[in-house]
Amino acid sequence: MIRFGPAGCDESYIGKVTDIPAYLAENGLDAFEVQCGHGVRMGEAAAKTLRRNAEEHGIALSVHSPYFISLSNPERLVANIEYLRQTTRLAGWLGAERIVVHMGAARGLPRREGMEASARTVLAALDTAKAEGWPNVLFCLETMGKVNQLGTVDEVLELCGLGENLLPCIDFGHLYARSLGVFEGRDAFASVLINLESVLGTERAKNCHIHFSHIAYGRGGESKHQTFADEGGGPDWTPLARLLAERGYRSTVICESGGTQTRDAAEMKRIYREGCL
Ligand SMILES: [Zn+2]
Repeated sequence: MIRFGPAGCDESYIGKVTDIPAYLAENGLDAFEVQCGHGVRMGEAAAKTLRRNAEEHGIALSVHSPYFISLSNPERLVANIEYLRQTTRLAGWLGAERIVVHMGAARGLPRREGMEASARTVLAALDTAKAEGWPNVLFCLETMGKVNQLGTVDEVLELCGLGENLLPCIDFGHLYARSLGVFEGRDAFASVLINLESVLGTERAKNCHIHFSHIAYGRGGESKHQTFADEGGGPDWTPLARLLAERGYRSTVICESGGTQTRDAAEMKRIYREGCL
């Protein structure tokens, strides 16, 4: 079964983040990604309230780690491990297994050096998580939307090869944006899933994390997250929904539309269930 939900609270939700599970269940959804893009600010008491509400309403929680983490920056190794430690501790309070982590900038370094620094950061952060009592955490490494960022599918898969606690977070909107609109449609999506399955094995691939939204792009790739109602947005969800159903994926799919992410996640679920199963 694929789970669907939004990234953070959408613009039509009025209330506390800890109370959002009931609203998501009313909208037919069963996942929620807690946004810590600007830092881990939720405390233990709020996290435990959100966890109770999520359990009551059948919502699986995941956590997006801060955007300012750059795995590839060797000078920020200690700081990045600390940010990931804070994110992991929050995920533990929430009962959330999955933490999404951005690959980060290449910063003018040769990409190979950036990849080696990223590997060191990820492995050290996983060791810290285990030492602090969170051995089952999954770091979901995200494919990125800008051309000069690390985070192609192959780069993500290379890092995922470092250990069982690493999974890809395939952001199909980002892949569309970094390809300047070329990555689109059934064949393109299928090539990514086949790549995942051949590198990670079918069972692990089918458990991958997915981000989906329409994204506008410029010369350097990603420029803006759109909504499904915006004109000219891509990529199209339907061929991907069909492939995920045909290949038996059990992913969590998080919609990152800019403001209408709950409504758009519900629409994605409707297309998946009515048109593809
Ligand atoms: Zn992200």
